[in-house]
Parts: sequence; C-alpha cells; structure tokens
Amino acid sequence: MSPTAAQVFDAVDVIIAKRDGAALSPEQIAWVVEAYTRGAVAEEQMSSLAMAILLNGMTRAEVFAWTRAMIDTGERLDFTDLARPSVDKHSTGGVGDKITLPLAPLVAACGAAVPQLSGRGLGHTGGTLDKLESIPGWRARVSTERMREILGEVGAVVCAAGDRLAPADRKLYALRDVTGTVESIPLIASSIMSKKIAEGTGGLVLDVKVGSGAFMKTAERARELAETMVALGTDAGLSTVAVLTDMSTPLGLTVGNAIEVAESVEVLTGGGPSDVVELTLTLARHMLQLAKVDVDPAEVLASGRAMDSWRAMITAQGGDPAAALPVARESQVVLAPDSGVLTRLDALAVGVAAWRLGAGRARKEDAVQAGAGIRLHAKPGDTVTAGQPLMTLLTDTPERFERAAQALLGSWDIAEEPAASHPLVLDTVTA
Ligand code: URA
Repeated sequence: MSPTAAQVFDAVDVIIAKRDGAALSPEQIAWVVEAYTRGAVAEEQMSSLAMAILLNGMTRAEVFAWTRAMIDTGERLDFTDLARPSVDKHSTGGVGDKITLPLAPLVAACGAAVPQLSGRGLGHTGGTLDKLESIPGWRARVSTERMREILGEVGAVVCAAGDRLAPADRKLYALRDVTGTVESIPLIASSIMSKKIAEGTGGLVLDVKVGSGAFMKTAERARELAETMVALGTDAGLSTVAVLTDMSTPLGLTVGNAIEVAESVEVLTGGGPSDVVELTLTLARHMLQLAKVDVDPAEVLASGRAMDSWRAMITAQGGDPAAALPVARESQVVLAPDSGVLTRLDALAVGVAAWRLGAGRARKEDAVQAGAGIRLHAKPGDTVTAGQPLMTLLTDTPERFERAAQALLGSWDIAEEPAASHPLVLDTVTA
C-alpha cells in the first residue's frame, strides 16, 4: 500500500530525524510534504528541514518518496491518447540557453509531440516563457484542453505550468530561494522531476548544465544530479536520458529575450551559431530515439519544415511569427582591450550583466525588458583585435549600463595562444 498522509507526525520529530542523519520513512515524507502544502507545517519548519536535507542528503528511496509526495499534491496530465508519441526536454538552466525554441518545433516536425511546461527566469538564468513573450501577441497561459488540441494539430506547445501541477514544488521552491537551500541535489532533482512526471510526457531528455553559468559548477556534481533524475524518471516509468553539457560560456551569440528569439529563428532557417545548432540536433536525436521516431532531424531542419512548425506553434498561442520583435532603446559597445585569442568568456558574468540590463528579474513580480540583453561579437577560440567590439549591451534604461559593466569586470581573457577547447556535449547518462 502506498503511504498516505492520513498518518500524522510531529514536524519537529521529522526535522530532528533528518538533522541527526536518519533516513525519513515514506510515511513521514508523504505527511510533511502534504501538510506543508496545506499550511499545517510552518514555513520556518520546512525551511529548517530543507537545510537539514541540504546538509545531510537523502537516500534514493527518500528522494523517490519526496518526488511522489510532491506529485500527489496536485494533478497529473496524461497524453497517452495522442496520435503521436510524446517526449519533452528539460534544461537545468544556463546563459543564452534558447534551445527549447528551435528544438520543440523541430521535434514536432519530425513526428513526435512535445508538451513542454516551462518556467520564467529568476536570477541570472533566463526563462523560456520570458523569451517567447517578446513575440507580439504570444500568450503563455493555455488550458489543458487547448494544450491537447495544439499537440494534435501542431505537435508542440510551450506554455506555463498551471497552479495545480505539483503545487508543493511552487511553495517549496520559493522558500528554498530565500533560505539558501536551492543547491541540494535531492531537492533540485525532486523539484524538476515532480513537475516532469506530473506533466505526463512519455519520454524525457534532461540537459544538465555544467560550469560557471550553471547550478552545478563541476562535472561530478552534474553527474550526480543527472543520475538522480534519471533514476527518478526510470522508477516512475518515464523513459529518461540526461546529457551533460558545457555552460562555462554562453550558448550562441545572444543573451536576453527578443534577441534569443531572433537567433532561434536563424537556426530554424538553416543558419545560427554552430553551438546552438549542435545542441539542438543532439537533444532532438535523443528525444526522437526515446519516442521511437526514426527521422533525421538535420534533414528536417534543412527542409524548412521545422520553421513551418514554429510558425504554427507561435500562431496557436496568439503570437504573430512575422511581427517585428522589440528592440532595446539604448546600446553600449564593449571593446576588446588587446589583440589575441579570446580564451575565456565567463557565462555567469554575462548572465548577471544581462540580468542587470533588464533581461531578467530579481523578484517573481518584476517585469522583464523584451529588448534587453547582450549581443556577443566573439566567442572563446575567436581571434580579436584591440579596439574591435567584443559585445554590445542592450537596455531601455541606460542607468543600468554601469552595474552591468561591473559584472563583466575580469570576465574574459585574451591571450597570445589559443587555449584547449571544451567539447559542448560532455557525456550522456542513461538508466
Ligand atoms: N529548476 C527547478 O525546477 N527546480 C530546482 O530546484 C532547480 C531548478
């Protein structure tokens, strides 16, 4: 019999057990997660428990029970009746990570259905919904019925998760954000996987970022997170694969909202930066393999069919794919101080600078500037000449330039000799 929340525990006993390094029982976990969601466990108690989990970790059985308890606080969607196999992708978040934008319509054009419930950006990593909202008319809110219709007609929908999907996670994530408890592998893994399992996708490809611009700064921590999430998906009957990818430097040549949409459209029309194209195709291949669709995504991209799916996907959510995108009112160019090879351009610094320019938000309630961000003119490995533009800072509010420039201090190296290049795709983790 599965654990139920009918059994009542004392929150202080649960906290003390985890503080002292014990493994919590499935019944304790089911109770504490459910009681916290309905307000019977106080914020300060959950805050203390989250810190004990961060410090002492969780066993695989505990993470599994925690994830299941979070799913059970809300509804579960089901797309098994669609004519196409469903498959989704989730990225742990990076700088310039616009991959969902070309990937969802590409995989749809190949014949699978992509039901993607996305989030908004918080802190230095951008959010897919913020990027898409820079398209005039596009709406992130879609009912479950309409989501099903779009998946049948177009094959891809990228929209906001409704309030009824894993509500425990929404509450807990907001608490972790202000209590220094975000960086816990069991809490990150259960947060991501509870939403993805509840979303009802048939397959899942996880893009786990590694490097300065990612949650996980080292390959070891990223691998541990990837293995935990793949195990959670597999245990829940969801075919899951994780790809470890480099996030030491931004993806592509744009970091922001409207400028990332424009770069994604370039990829869909057969151009775009090579790293964005490489990662889009790598993730598409994994997604199609999980969905058992035997189609080459590179051919579909070259044929223009992915672009047709993009137009249909944007139109289905009220957007005008042909409309001009917003442009920032002010710009400031940063020049290369020396000549040589750009050997490092730090993802975190560029992400923070773009955020300070107005591309991201400091609090959930803040609005983002659609046109703000950073356009890069050189990437690591490129040769630069003293005085040439290295990047252009974009904002509607020029008083932001100074703080953005401060974030960029010491964020790049220019050397006489090239440095060893990093591969973009570092590893794959399967069940
Ligand atoms: N993304 C999530 O959805 N949850 C986390 O805990 C971290 C990243």
